Amino acid sequence: MSTLLRNASLLDADGRREGWVLIDGDRIAAIGLAGVDAPPPAATVLDLHGRTVTPGFIDLHGHGGGGAAFDNGAEEIAAALAVHRAHGTTRSVISLVANPLDDVEASLSTVAELAASDPTVVGAHLEGPFLAIGRRGAHAPEFLHEPDAETIGRLLAAGAGRISQITIAPELPGALEAVRRFAAAGVVVAIGHTEADEHVARAAFDAGATLVTHVFNTMPGIHHRDPGPIAAAFDDERVTLELVVDGVHVHPSVVQMVFRAAPHRVALVTDAMAAAGGADGHYRLGSLNVDVRGGIAHLAGTSTIAGSTLTQDAALRTAVVVAAVDEAAAVEALTRTPARVLGRDSEWGSLAAGYAADLVVLDADWRVERVWAAGRALPVDPAEQTFR
Ligand SMILES: [Zn+2]
Repeated sequence: MSTLLRNASLLDADGRREGWVLIDGDRIAAIGLAGVDAPPPAATVLDLHGRTVTPGFIDLHGHGGGGAAFDNGAEEIAAALAVHRAHGTTRSVISLVANPLDDVEASLSTVAELAASDPTVVGAHLEGPFLAIGRRGAHAPEFLHEPDAETIGRLLAAGAGRISQITIAPELPGALEAVRRFAAAGVVVAIGHTEADEHVARAAFDAGATLVTHVFNTMPGIHHRDPGPIAAAFDDERVTLELVVDGVHVHPSVVQMVFRAAPHRVALVTDAMAAAGGADGHYRLGSLNVDVRGGIAHLAGTSTIAGSTLTQDAALRTAVVVAAVDEAAAVEALTRTPARVLGRDSEWGSLAAGYAADLVVLDADWRVERVWAAGRALPVDPAEQTFR
C-alpha cells in the first residue's frame, strides 16, 4: 500500500525544500521536488498544504512517559512509547536507571524481546550502575558501584546483543577497561554522571567512548583553568553530545553555544521520566520518589532535577523558537545525528529514497499533526495506538 504526501515542505539535516514523499510499506520509495518531479500515483494521496515534514525523531535517552516507566516491564514500556510516538519519536532507546542487578537483568531481557518484535524499540541504555556517587542525580546511591568483570559479563549476557548504550563515569577504577569491553561488544559508550577532568575524559574517548550523557548536567562545568569533560568533548570530532532542551536543564544561551561548538554532533534527547506527556504530581523514578510541579521533575524534597517531562517535539520548538537554533540543525539533532550515533544513519534520519518511512508532519507552530513509524500511520492520540 503506497501513500503520497504532496504539497509538503520537506525539512531534514540538509535543509528545507518543497516537494512530495512517497511511502511504500516501511520505506520511503521516492522523494520529489515541486515543479521538477511530477508526483507519482499512489493508493492514498494526502495534500499537506505546505506543512513541514521531517524524519521521525530518534531518542537516545528516555525513561518513560504518560505515567509509565521503562523500568516497570513490557506493558509500561509500550504505554510510554505510545505517548512519545504521538510527539514524533519513532525510534527509542529504553533507558534503565540503577537498580538491583537482578532487576536490571530482567529489564534487559524484556527490552531485548521488545526490540526483536517492535521496530520502534532500538535497544536498552544502561544509565548505571557505573556512575559517580557524587554526581548521581536521580540514581539511588546503594545500587552504584565500580565496574567489575563479573557485573559487566552479566549485563552483556542479559542484554542479548540489544544493549545499545551505556553511561559510565570514566574516573572510576576499572572504567577504561569497561569502556573498551562495552565498545568491543558493539555498545555505544557514553561518559556521564562523572567527576572526570579533561584528561580522564580524553582517555575515555581514546578507549572508545563516543557520547556524552546530557552534557552539562551531572558533570563538572567548563572553567577557564580547568576545562573539564565538556571542553574535551567539544574538541573531539568523534564525540556526540546529548542535550536536554526543555528550558530548564540548560540555559538557551548555552544551548546555542553547544550547537556552535559542536556542529553536527548534538543529539537532542528527552531524558523523560513518567510524567512526560502527563500531569504534575508524584511519580517514581526507579526506586526514588519524584515530585513534578509546573512540568519540572525534582527528587522529592530536594532541588535535584530528576529527568525531564520533555517530548522531542517540545525540544524542537524550544531549540528553534527560544534558543534560536537553525531549524535544519535542530532537526538534524533529532534525526540524523542520533541515527549516526547508533550506526543506523544509512537507514534512519533522512528524507531520501530507501530510508525508513519514519515521518512527522508539523504545523507552523512545530506541533505534531501526523506520525508514520516504520511505515505505519499512527493516530496522534496515544490511547488509539496499537503498534505491535
Ligand atoms: Zn537518564
